[in-house]
Amino acid sequence: MKPIRVTVWNEGRHEQKDAPVKAIYPQGIHGCIAAALRLAGGFEVRTATLDDPEHGLTDAVLDATDVLFWWGHCAHGAVPDALAQKVQQRVLAGMGFIALHSAHYAKPFKLLMGTNCSLRWREAEEKERFFVIDHAHPIAAGLPDTFELPHEEMYGERFDVPTPDELVFISWFEGGDVFRSGCTWRRGHGRVLYFRPGHETHPTYHDRTIQMVLANAARWAAQPLRRATNDSPWCKESFEPIVGADAPATTADV
Ligand code: ZN
Repeated sequence: MKPIRVTVWNEGRHEQKDAPVKAIYPQGIHGCIAAALRLAGGFEVRTATLDDPEHGLTDAVLDATDVLFWWGHCAHGAVPDALAQKVQQRVLAGMGFIALHSAHYAKPFKLLMGTNCSLRWREAEEKERFFVIDHAHPIAAGLPDTFELPHEEMYGERFDVPTPDELVFISWFEGGDVFRSGCTWRRGHGRVLYFRPGHETHPTYHDRTIQMVLANAARWAAQPLRRATNDSPWCKESFEPIVGADAPATTADV
């Protein structure tokens, strides 16, 4: 079987300026996620960061990407609008897109959602317990009914996104908040997942269960179709004769 081509994009800022984050992710958050996917097998993985030429997302890279992971936090504003729109169009044409943690405010994700994507948050080293609520979903394959991270940043409702097509996980936090932590949407021909955990000061992406979710998600989001949806062609000629039509339509009729 052909490997699924994954690009893991990360702004890569915290790993440069925050020593504790660098200690947890010496190869960057992108490097950790890429290593986990390579270990899972079946993927051809590349990484891209904000500081790469063209922010790592040239047309050639996007042409060779079935699924794009996106981690961003403090540098959302440094992503050019044109690049965000390009990513959005790629997703509408069929590319998979997986927004991680603070990528709820990433420009491409906000474009895909069309809402503010706001939420409540708190950094208090809370336990996060995930409940799998759609056991039949491919993203939940092989997972236990519940799993936990000992410390995470809290994200709470209301999460200002369109009602998800599918809800795979709900999280409960030690402080009592709950959150829709695994949400999927279809956008155009593309599949989108928002997966909540991954605050930079916690070793979340080293966790084996989280890594299983990421691999499952990449398999789910990948599909061969690439068909642009941004063209609305004028159909001058009909498939069948139209009863009562005197003459074929012309441009003057439109
Ligand atoms: Zn965070």
